[in-house]
This record gives sequence, C-alpha cells and structure tokens, in this order.
Amino acid sequence: MTTMTPINTIAKGTLYVVSAPSGAGKTSLLKAVLQKLPELKLSISHTTRPQRPGEQDGVDYHFVDQATFQKMLDEQQFLEHAEVFGNFYGTSRAWLEQQLVEGHDVILEIDWQGARQVRELMPECRGIFILPPSREELSNRLTNRGQDSDEVIAKRMAAATAEMKHYDEYDYVLVNDDFETACEELEAIYTARRLRTASQKVRQHHLIHDLLSDSME
Ligand code: GDP
Ligand code: ADP
Ligand code: 5GP
Repeated sequence: MTTMTPINTIAKGTLYVVSAPSGAGKTSLLKAVLQKLPELKLSISHTTRPQRPGEQDGVDYHFVDQATFQKMLDEQQFLEHAEVFGNFYGTSRAWLEQQLVEGHDVILEIDWQGARQVRELMPECRGIFILPPSREELSNRLTNRGQDSDEVIAKRMAAATAEMKHYDEYDYVLVNDDFETACEELEAIYTARRLRTASQKVRQHHLIHDLLSDSME
C-alpha cells in the first residue's frame, strides 16, 4: 500500500467514520439523520460493485469500472480504499479535504479496513460502530432488503462476524434495534460533539465576546 500524507491538519470540521456489518442499517440510519441535520455531509464513495436497482450514480456511489478505480488509485486520489466482498471501494481525498477545511462535518460510511486507514491519517476523527440486535435479525434484514442474490447474502453474513470483531476500535457503539431510538442516539453523538467547548468557542465567538466584555452599551 502507498504511504499517504496526513490529511490537511487545519481541518475545522469533524470527520465521522461509521461502520457496521452489511444489513445492520447504517445506510437507512444515516439517510434519516442527514435529513434532520442538513449541515452534515455524507461522502460518496467510488465502487466497482454493480449498481443495485434504485441506486443512482453520483448519489449512492460513484460507480466505476476496475480500470478507472485502478487509475484513481495510481494517482493517489483515494484517502483510503479497501476490497469488500470482492468489490473495491474508496473515499475520494480531494472532496473530503475541501469539506473539512471549509468547516463542514462529514460522515464516511466505510468498512473497518478503511476506518483503520482513516484513523491513521486523522486520529481526531470519531468512529461509530453499528451493531444489529441479533444475527437472525441481520440475516432477515439482508433478505428483506431484496437487493442482493442469495449467494451475495451468504457472503455478507459470513463476513459479518469478521466486521463486528472490530467494534471496539470505534469511539461509540450503537445497537440498531428500534430504528427511532438508534436515530436519536446517532444524533446525540453529533450534538454532544458540537457542544464541546472547543467547537462552541468558534461557533459562539460573537456571543462569548459580548458576554465577556465589561461595557454595557
Ligand atoms: P451495504 O453496506 O450492505 O449497503 O453494502 P455496500 O455495498 O454499500 O457496502 C459494502 C462495504 O463497503 C461496507 O462495509 C461499506 O462500509 C464499505 N464501503 C463503502 N464505501 C466505502 C469506502 O469508500 N471505503 C471503504 N473502505 N469501504 C467502503
Ligand atoms: P446497511 O447499509 O448497513 O447494509 P441498510 O440501511 O440497507 O443496511 O438496512 C438493511 C435493511 O434493514 C433495509 O431493508 C432496512 O430498511 C432495514 N432496517 C434498517 N434498520 C432497521 C431497524 N431498526 N429495524 C428493522 N429494519 C431495519
Ligand atoms: P454495499 O456494497 O452493500 O453498498 O457496501 C458493502 C460494504 O462496503 C459496506 O460495509 C460499506 O460500508 C463498505 N464501503 C462502502 N464504501 C466504502 C468505501 O469507500 N471504503 C470502504 N473501505 N468501504 C466502503
């Protein structure tokens, strides 16, 4: 693997890295939370995986062929990349860096291998791992989603344990049992982060300046 230079350290936004076994509900949860929090941005990965029915190029993923992915890799356009279930996935570096420097908070929905690479480059990122309430429910969700063949579902179930073994490398762990509760918990993580003194110092600097000035004009 090529050595990457650390991402621009003057980044002002917070980077969230979300992982979960396939079918745990991360895409649904993030979609719901992003609707409520329009200031949060989701990074759109590049992938060589075939497009599922209903998925839009440039919205769900940038769908590319192997040659294009390899070219981007050679040109070091990815912050991180990984092979998951026989397909390649990668996060575009330029877009992400720009968002963070502009002060936007960004979510990456990536696997544990990618999360590791991002943590190396940006130790200040916050990791969130989403667990399903049971193996049985995970299997039901993959089946009910109706997007993948039986063979692909079997592959994803087999990989679920390997993915879940990494849960304790993350800062937060959510169990996506009741959907609404999991959404609220995800929002709570985001809200608490924004209320940290270091963040409020920047966001509320006018208020703090006024409150701390002695004169009452
Ligand atoms: P789903 O999670 O079941 O909806 O399946 P996907 O095909 O959308 O994602 C497959 C795997 O690839 C998941 O583990 C994702 O977290 C991971 N993934 C998606 N995008 C990226 C990326 O840009 N980088 C890395 N490293 N992993 C990604
Ligand atoms: P992932 O992105 O982690 O692979 P999805 O968001 O595609 O998972 O969710 C997998 C399936 O499970 C979808 O059909 C989704 O509607 C469903 N699902 C997600 N969260 C819940 C939940 N809390 N309860 C029941 N079904 C859920
Ligand atoms: P799916 O093919 O079902 O959309 O995603 C399968 C897995 O690939 C998910 O666990 C997802 O998080 C992961 N994934 C998606 N995009 C990326 C990416 O850009 N980088 C990495 N490392 N994993 C990704």
